[in-house]
Amino acid sequence: MKKILITGGAGFIGSHVVRLFVNKYPQYQIFNLDALTYAGNLENIVDIEKESNYTFIKGDIVDASFIDQLFAEHQFDGILHLAAESHVDRSITDPLSFVKTNVIGTMNLLNAAKTIWHGNYEGKRFYHISTDEVYGSLGSEGLFTETTAYAPNSPYSASKASSDHFVRAYGETYGLPYVLTNCSNNYGPYHFPEKLIPLFINNIIQNKPLPVYGDGKYTRDWLFVEDHAVAIDLVFHEGVNHDTYNIGGFNEWQNIDLVQLLCKIMDEKLGRPIGSSEQLIAYVKDRPGHDLRYAIDASKIHKELGWKPSVTFEEGLEKTVNWYLENQTWLNNITSGAYATYYEKQYR
Ligand code: NAD
Repeated sequence: MKKILITGGAGFIGSHVVRLFVNKYPQYQIFNLDALTYAGNLENIVDIEKESNYTFIKGDIVDASFIDQLFAEHQFDGILHLAAESHVDRSITDPLSFVKTNVIGTMNLLNAAKTIWHGNYEGKRFYHISTDEVYGSLGSEGLFTETTAYAPNSPYSASKASSDHFVRAYGETYGLPYVLTNCSNNYGPYHFPEKLIPLFINNIIQNKPLPVYGDGKYTRDWLFVEDHAVAIDLVFHEGVNHDTYNIGGFNEWQNIDLVQLLCKIMDEKLGRPIGSSEQLIAYVKDRPGHDLRYAIDASKIHKELGWKPSVTFEEGLEKTVNWYLENQTWLNNITSGAYATYYEKQYR
């Protein structure tokens, strides 16, 4: 049986990856390591917590001796590393916590993997899940490819760029078998409502203002989170060692157009007159160092591994809105902070 460690599996993307792996690979033993920060929520994976091939471990990747002991005890064959501080706004107010988790935490995992594998790399793999934000900002033209030079602009993207470089360096220096992916903005169920799409869905439900940065012209590529999880599964199993893949939705939107589309879908779902949610849009002071445009060329993963998104943006948004409307208890627990007590109730 393969032992697979997934870090950050109580977070947004991690929970989808853990669910996919636990359900699809009964022959694997899946360990989900998560510190349950404000962004970690065990309610995200309540449906698989009783599966016999699944184990949850509460722990901090910044704690090197804990990580060393964990790896020595379980001798993992594969690591999918998603645990991170992930919110750009928080990185602007508290950059050091991003260095600790995203850089030192990644180093601790790399060191522990190197120690237990000890040069015997057959059947082993370290997979770092990263972001397109490491490439910095594009003008109105062009796309990020796997060879685009790194030029991170926020403390978040600088910390992810740094950890990407360490992963690559461990591959070059010690031969550690790694794969790396840089993905665009994800959206979908279980997204913490500090991020744009779930924040706006929640605010529209509650008739609260929709804060749009600057002039709303910032452009992002959006990918449905379940499609990202499928890509992660493919790269983990079929990606070429020491290689990197860009993952994106072929789906660029200016923020203001996205918000208007979301308002229209929400008006229809809530039975409100079309145009009423748009009234909630409120332009707010820009984020410092805000990147104008991200756009991903995902043709390598498409050509080499046959991956492409399975849903259009309209379909993915509709699924997402439906999920939030049907899971208001989840949303209320998050917004009230009640979700944080789940671990105490369930695991103590
Ligand atoms: P998230 O913030 O929803 O989840 C992060 C998880 O990591 C949480 O469960 C949290 O408890 C855990 N965590 C944080 N610090 C930890 C620590 N010190 N030790 C152990 N666990 C810790 O993040 P997400 O949006 O799911 O992103 C997951 C990964 O994917 C990140 O590495 C992020 O950089 C990357 N990524 C995200 C996006 C996106 O659009 N969300 C896009 C591309 C790449």
